[in-house]
Amino acid sequence: MRSVRLEAIGSLSLREMPKPVPGPEDLLVKVAACGICGTDRHLFHGEFPSRPPVTLGHEFAGVVEAVGSRVVGFEPGLKVTGDPNIACGLCPECHRGRINLCRNLQAIGIHRDGGFADYVIVPQSQAHQLPDALDLVQGAFCEPLACCIHGIDIAKIRPGDSVVVLGGGLIGLLVVQLAKLAGATDVILVTRSAEKRALGERIGATASVDPTAGDLETQICGENGLLPGGAEKVIEAVGVRETVEQAPRLTRRGGTVLILGVLPQGTKVEIEPFDLLFREIRFLSSFVNPFTHRRAAALIASGAIDVAPLISRRITLDEAVSAISGSAPPGEIRSMVIPDL
Ligand code: NAP
Ligand code: ZN
Repeated sequence: MRSVRLEAIGSLSLREMPKPVPGPEDLLVKVAACGICGTDRHLFHGEFPSRPPVTLGHEFAGVVEAVGSRVVGFEPGLKVTGDPNIACGLCPECHRGRINLCRNLQAIGIHRDGGFADYVIVPQSQAHQLPDALDLVQGAFCEPLACCIHGIDIAKIRPGDSVVVLGGGLIGLLVVQLAKLAGATDVILVTRSAEKRALGERIGATASVDPTAGDLETQICGENGLLPGGAEKVIEAVGVRETVEQAPRLTRRGGTVLILGVLPQGTKVEIEPFDLLFREIRFLSSFVNPFTHRRAAALIASGAIDVAPLISRRITLDEAVSAISGSAPPGEIRSMVIPDL
């Protein structure tokens, strides 16, 4: 079978590999689609630890082709999505139920072979069934959506809340939709690209703001701004210093900042604890997808979250090599690798 292999940091190629054989508790899944995430580009550049040689791809969906002898509840022909993050179940964090903080966390597509290939092995503990009728390109959005659901849970978005989302990439656009579903009445998307702002408004943002068009705090929190006094919940979905520093300034008294964006390790930001304390701002963060993958699958399968407008282009395994080793094309939300395209 064909696989997009990270041979070493900075070396990626399409290679012929033996078709994997499922262990007793594994599913052999024929990959239908696998999304290219910023993390894949970071793995290529060595900005995120991995274990080369390894096949990349952690946002995938496909069809079960074969199951191991001890697999229960899955059979060949079923459509599935795989939660890539595998917790050990044994460490103190796992025993506290905090599986995303597992000390031995391993991920499909990072530490073991992933979905930029014709086939991927998915342990049955990580597999979730998708409806027969679902387009599997949409099914491949379960992993990023599951991360956003965890963030929304931590931020405790409630009916009637006002929410500002910083960043109109895939994560920001999924958070916009989830905030709306959770009952937020104002959902304001802040992102520089006019195209992304328009898309955000089409899929649920009640307004959008260009952060370069003037002072952002005035545009949002000022007397004549969109949310005088600020938002109850501000979700940072960019991963740069500027937006992390903006977030508390856009939050109203007693409100919550949630950091979803990943900043390069070692980056420091300036936060004023005096201000956080006297305005009692909660400053929270959210990491990956503990126990939220099934909910993501349900939201996509039901159509409650619309991922179709977030598909930027469909490419082959061959094209995936340059797409991952190069930078994201302007306006890209998600490029989907389709092995059988
Ligand atoms: P992305 O496609 O790079 O989106 C980020 C967007 O932010 C860009 O599209 C850009 O759009 C916008 N942006 C950049 N600078 C900005 C600024 N100064 N003000 C406002 N918007 C700005 O990335 P993504 O896939 O959506 O992911 C977002 C972040 O979440 C990344 O850091 C990623 O690593 C992280 N992430 C975290 C988790 C988790 O578990 N916590 C899971 C998945 C991803 P414009 O050009 O329109 O400004
Ligand atoms: Zn563990």
